[in-house]
Amino acid sequence: MNCIVCRKPMQASWSPATFFQRDWVCPECENQLTPLGTGCPACGQPNDTGGVCSDCIRWSALGLDLSVRSLFAYDEQGINWLHRFKFGGDVALVEQVRSTLRSLRERGTTYVPIPLSEKRLRSRRFNQAEYLARMIGPTQNLLLKEEVLSQREFGKERRRHRSNPFTVQKQVKCGKIVLVDDVYTTGTTLHQAVFALHQAGYKEVSAICLFRALNKSKTRPI
Ligand SMILES: [Zn+2]
Ligand SMILES: [Zn+2]
Repeated sequence: MNCIVCRKPMQASWSPATFFQRDWVCPECENQLTPLGTGCPACGQPNDTGGVCSDCIRWSALGLDLSVRSLFAYDEQGINWLHRFKFGGDVALVEQVRSTLRSLRERGTTYVPIPLSEKRLRSRRFNQAEYLARMIGPTQNLLLKEEVLSQREFGKERRRHRSNPFTVQKQVKCGKIVLVDDVYTTGTTLHQAVFALHQAGYKEVSAICLFRALNKSKTRPI
């Protein structure tokens, strides 16, 4: 058999539990991403002390407290992984994180992906956050995202640009909401989304992000 991610042939031990398994991931691919260790209790950004990070201190000062569960470090491997998944459409990669995502599923929780704008969705053909959210549990597309303006248009419509790009497109009865996104950089996107949900009456909102940026200087914009 071959690894579904890297396609290299691999050996796997046969057992009753693995007999019907179709999608094999080799140990090398399985361990490619770096799980987050000690870090900020609110967002998972790694640090040695386990203290609250500067991003979360800033959000808290604005009266915005959000608990974000981040899973892997957005290091070199993380950046490459997300690039292949998001822009290359290499969805076989999610086999590497399937069991981790599935283990996060909680009863009575609705998973809401951070949407792409319509234009972005057309060009990319799929929303990577929705793909991840579906692997965790039941999803609802509650949010709509307005187009982010280009630099040229930005001058004309500066005021509009500053407003929240997210709106709630429908009201559904659901218990706890967990927003799902691919990477947490400074938290602006998630906080804007939470703000829109709160305004629409959804009170219990937290978030899951596949990656947490280590610090701004080490990551490139994606
Ligand atoms: Zn592999
Ligand atoms: Zn933090």
